[in-house]
Amino acid sequence: MLATMLYGAGDVRCEEVPEPKIIHPTDAIIRLSASCICGSDLWPYRGLNDVPGPMAMGHEYCGIVEEVGSAVTSVRPGQFVVGSFCISDNTCPNCRFGFQSSCVQREFMTGAQAPLARVPLADGTLVATPALPPDDLIPSLLAVSDVLGTGWYAADAARVREGSTVVVVGDGAVGLMGVLAAKQMGAGRIIAMSRHKTRQDLALEFGATDIVSERGEKGVALVKELTGNIGGDSVLECVGTQESMAQALQCARPGAMIGFVGVPHGVEFDGQSLFFAQVGLMGGPAPVRRFLPHLMELVLARKINPGKVFDLTLPLSDAAEGYRAMDERRAIKTLLRV
Ligand SMILES: [Zn+2]
Repeated sequence: MLATMLYGAGDVRCEEVPEPKIIHPTDAIIRLSASCICGSDLWPYRGLNDVPGPMAMGHEYCGIVEEVGSAVTSVRPGQFVVGSFCISDNTCPNCRFGFQSSCVQREFMTGAQAPLARVPLADGTLVATPALPPDDLIPSLLAVSDVLGTGWYAADAARVREGSTVVVVGDGAVGLMGVLAAKQMGAGRIIAMSRHKTRQDLALEFGATDIVSERGEKGVALVKELTGNIGGDSVLECVGTQESMAQALQCARPGAMIGFVGVPHGVEFDGQSLFFAQVGLMGGPAPVRRFLPHLMELVLARKINPGKVFDLTLPLSDAAEGYRAMDERRAIKTLLRV
């Protein structure tokens, strides 16, 4: 089969690889309905993470179960499933505490930019739909697997409540999903920080009430102006750079929570500023598994349409162009037809 492999910075290839096989009795093989490229795939693509050897790319997936190992009991061949990018048993103390992304058996999904993928710990990781979903819902169900789950976690970690004032730092796909999540959680005001017209429009469509297109001191000043000089109750940090984290900290009111889901690259905290900021920080890889049943239900009931975040669709064989388009910000998120 054809699959996407990353060889080094800027060098992504779609090439022939062997089909995945069941290795452990707890594995499942799924036939993907669609795949996509994640913002976090751009870190190694841009040379910001080491690429020790060819890497099988892709960790967002949904599709039909093709085969299961002998120990799998909760899903069966023919069912449509969605799973998280974090593989989890869903039974250990961390999973039961709602942090499946820190499962004691955690693995990170790989190799999902391909027509077939092996999902370890299938019972704990996968959630099946009651029936095969209609084709037009596939992009939204795929989004649940990571980008929506992560935006949702940012809002959950930032304790968005009915009537909250929420500031979203980052207008990438995750930030936009954070806007959607905050809206669903009943936020009264959602301030999206975005400099790009198409992303601003999508943020407004997903529920943003205000757009701040400035960054740095100016951006902070505008957020303060919009919030009676106080700052947001909840701040979603969806980028992972020093600048975006500084922005998030300065836009948070004392007592606020910051949900940070952008994988930090070079982010450092100053203890004393943090002490006096009086904000809470909760972040990390999203425990998407905790949210899967609810988010899948919202999609199947057509109450949310996170699939709109895909603004470029390409065949898997053009994955390299999908990476380039996202790297150059020509696309927010690329869906790959498999
Ligand atoms: Zn676990």
